[in-house]
This record gives sequence, structure tokens and C-alpha cells, in this order.
Amino acid sequence: KSDAVRERLHKEIKKRNLSDKVKVFKTGCFGFCKLGPIVVVHPDRTFYIKVEAKDVDEILDSHIGKGQVVERLLYKSVNNDEVQKTIDEIDFFNHQMRIALRNCGVINPEDIKEYIAMGGYNNLANILTNKTPPTDIIEELKKSGLRGRGGGGFLTGQKWEYAYNYEGNKKFVLCNADEGDPGAFMDRSILEGDPHSVIEAMIIAGYCIGAHQGYVYVRAEYPIAVDRLEIAIDQAKKAGLLGQNIFGSGFDFDLDIRLGAGAFVCGEETALIQSVMGMRGEPRPRPPFPAEVGLWEKPTLNNNVETFANIPVILEKGADWFASIGTENSKGTKVFALAGQINNTGLIEVPMGTTLRTIIYDIGGGIHDNKQFKAAQTGGPSGGCIPADYLDIKIDFDTLADIGSMMGSGGMIIMDESDCMVDIARFYLEFAQDESCGKCVPCRVGTRRILEILKKITKGKGEMEDLKILEDLCYDIKDSSLCGLGQSAPNPVLSTLQYFKDEYIKHIKDKE
Ligand code: SF4
Repeated sequence: KSDAVRERLHKEIKKRNLSDKVKVFKTGCFGFCKLGPIVVVHPDRTFYIKVEAKDVDEILDSHIGKGQVVERLLYKSVNNDEVQKTIDEIDFFNHQMRIALRNCGVINPEDIKEYIAMGGYNNLANILTNKTPPTDIIEELKKSGLRGRGGGGFLTGQKWEYAYNYEGNKKFVLCNADEGDPGAFMDRSILEGDPHSVIEAMIIAGYCIGAHQGYVYVRAEYPIAVDRLEIAIDQAKKAGLLGQNIFGSGFDFDLDIRLGAGAFVCGEETALIQSVMGMRGEPRPRPPFPAEVGLWEKPTLNNNVETFANIPVILEKGADWFASIGTENSKGTKVFALAGQINNTGLIEVPMGTTLRTIIYDIGGGIHDNKQFKAAQTGGPSGGCIPADYLDIKIDFDTLADIGSMMGSGGMIIMDESDCMVDIARFYLEFAQDESCGKCVPCRVGTRRILEILKKITKGKGEMEDLKILEDLCYDIKDSSLCGLGQSAPNPVLSTLQYFKDEYIKHIKDKE
């Protein structure tokens, strides 16, 4: 649909001899998924939604020709029914703070010049031409407080320091773009909307730790992200930003793409490393961590897409600026994919510490059909369900863990009063069971047993003692599984047992 709108714009602009006056730019996603295709008219930033090819004539004749906005294509707030004309007025955007998504919906991701025009590759140029000591960059990252956005929340600067300190005749930089959580598309959107920010950060990472080769491991199911990344790598190579002797500094760095084949477990870093090397993607015990023993047994720095996308901005604006955003132990912003029973689905980026209430009601426009909010599931299959009692907690890595959920990579699925929380737990367990690689018994067999009990309960065949067995099994699997997938797979069950036990009991009692 967007392509049809763009083609029509080009055709009609040419036909009307407006080519000198009006330029059309293709961008990545704006994040407001349900309203696309979107056309933003600059310089006033008028935001047209659900545009179709047939609307193009009216936009050109009325808006461009007479300076009159096309009212019927403007957004009407679900919060207060008011027409919100510009992107800056729209509730969905004006509670957000965009750092990782700063260029998404703003620049053409297929044109390196647009990234450069936004200050892109400036940091890299400064670092390489000034020969900035890697330890200075690592200190800056540590000071910023940036934590990994892939789920683990480990301090990024600390990880870079480990990879820098470990000796190796070869080292590697790895970008994890194997986003597999149901409903999550943060990394996809960044790669589709701003691939150069990830490339720039990876080159800087290579310079810092002494690596000359990087890999982006991206899902094959993301064809647009893969295409744009390929285009961006090619443009960076042609511009002398990848390859040998970058900026005449003597530093060499190259970047390649590896495609994932859709196994969720390959998002776990040790499995991902196996897969990049062409082997079956199975986790292995840690330590040793990849920063010491990674690709081809060499020190390997692995960060996810969103983490890398933050780095050029931190280096440009400084660690103090970044550390001033967010909460005490969770700095900066977080991108969430908002989905489920919410009016405004899409991709959002908010400062750490934003409340669930702001996300759901101010940005998300509330629950469908004015129903009651019941729970928010964060952290994907590894996370948990947060009940309405916690609508006002400030969301960050620690608060989510404290209430039995987790940040994960940023999936956020909203449930309303009509959703059955036992069914939700069963859905996530089905996913975990399907995706278990089978290497260790607690996860391979244990998740199957949990699933059997959940199915029994939802079919009205459960017994009260099943709840105790369920709980014990969950803790056993958490304690004894080899990798994060198994260790966190019981979380959706444990959190629903903690906050919605009455629903389990109702299923069991109703059969009597
Ligand atoms: Fe494989 Fe699950 Fe064991 Fe991880 S916990 S190694 S996914 S079987």
C-alpha cells in the first residue's frame, strides 16, 4: 500500500510540474502501526493517516496547492476525540522520547547521505582520526549506565571492557538481530528504519576491542530488514567506512550478515554463536562467556540491535546526558512493541521509569471497547504478567524483575477483562515447548509436563493438587535448565499463579 501511495505521489507531482517544489522521501516505520500508510508533509509536519493512492490528488491539490489540510486524513485522538494535526500533537508520539528510534520515520534508510546529514558517522570519524583511546570510549559507556536491551540487562560498557581485556589474535563483534519473541519487532524496525546506526556502533565496537570482523545475525523472516542492511553495508563499503584503512586511520573492519532460520533459541548468545559458525544452534554452559570464548573460540562482543543503536547518540551527547534519563539503575529509554487489546498498537520508545499507566492510557489510548485492563505481559515467553495493581509502578529492569516479570527485549502484550490468564500461560508454554532445543532434560521434558497440566486445567479436568505440582515443576525447571530459555520458560505460569490463581481455581472448580 505504501509503495502504491509513493508511486502515485511521484507520478502526480511530475504531472503537476511540482518536482522543484515537492520532494518525496521514503522512510522507515513511524511506529504507529495501525494507522499506516502514513504521509507526513513538511515543514509543518502534518500527519496523514491511512493514506491510499486515491488520496494523493487531494493532498497535492488541497494541502500543497492551497495550503488547506485534508481534514478527513488527520488523526483523531482516541483519548479525547480531538483532531491532532501534526506529529508533535499526537498523544501516541508526544509522551515518547526517541533515542534508538531517532531516525526511524525521519530518514531514508536506503540513503547513507541522509544518515550522515543527521550527524551519522561523525563519532566514528572523530574517534578514528583523533585515535581516541578505546578505554576512554569504554569508560564513557560505563558512565552512561547503558544496559543491554536484548533481555539480560548487563552493563554494556562492562561487556565491552571484558572483550577489550581478553587476549586474542582475533576478536569479533556480533549483533544479535534474532528477535523471536511473539509480538516483538523492535530490532526489525531499527534495522528497517536506521541500519547505519547499528553499523556505525559495530565499527566503533570493533575499534574498541580490537576486532576486525563483525557479523549481524538476523532472522531470515525479516526480508526488508535484511535488504536494507545489505544496502547499508554496501553503501558504507563504497564510502570507505567499512573495509581497510577506514578514514586513513589504519583500522580495518568488515561486516557480514548471517541469516537465522527461525529458531527462538538462537537468540541465546551461545546458541547464536554456534549458528553463525554454521553449526546447530544449541546453547552451551557459561562461563566461559562469549567475551572470552566466542566465535571460533575467540573473544566476541555480542550486543543486540537496540543496544548498538543507542551508542552513537551516547557518544555524541555524552554519558552524563544519557545517564540523566531513566531511573537509578536503568538509564536511557526502552523501545516496546505494544500489542494486544489496546487501541494504539505499535512501536514506542519511552524513558525508563515511565509507568504502565502512561504507556497503556496516554500513549496506547486505553483498552479496546473501553474494557477493563487486566494484565500486561512483558518480556515475551521469558516474562510474566503484570496485574492492574501495578499500573503505577515505574517500569525498569529492576521493578519488573521485582514483580515477577522482566524487561526482556521489549514485547508488551496487553490483556483485558475477557482474556483468560490460564490460556495466556498455556500459549507461552506451548511456544517454549516448541522452541526448546531439547539439549537438557529439565527444559525438554519439564516444559512438556507443565503444558500437559495446563491443558488439563483449561479443559476442565484439573485437580487442586495440580497447582502445587505445577509450582514445584516450575521452580525445578528454573533451577536446573541449561540456558535462559528453560530457566525463564516457567515465568508466565508462575506470574499468573501469583496474581491470577483464582482463574486456575475457577477452571478446576467449574468442572465440579
Ligand atoms: Fe535447550 Fe531448553 Fe536446555 Fe536451553 S534450557 S539448552 S533451550 S533444552
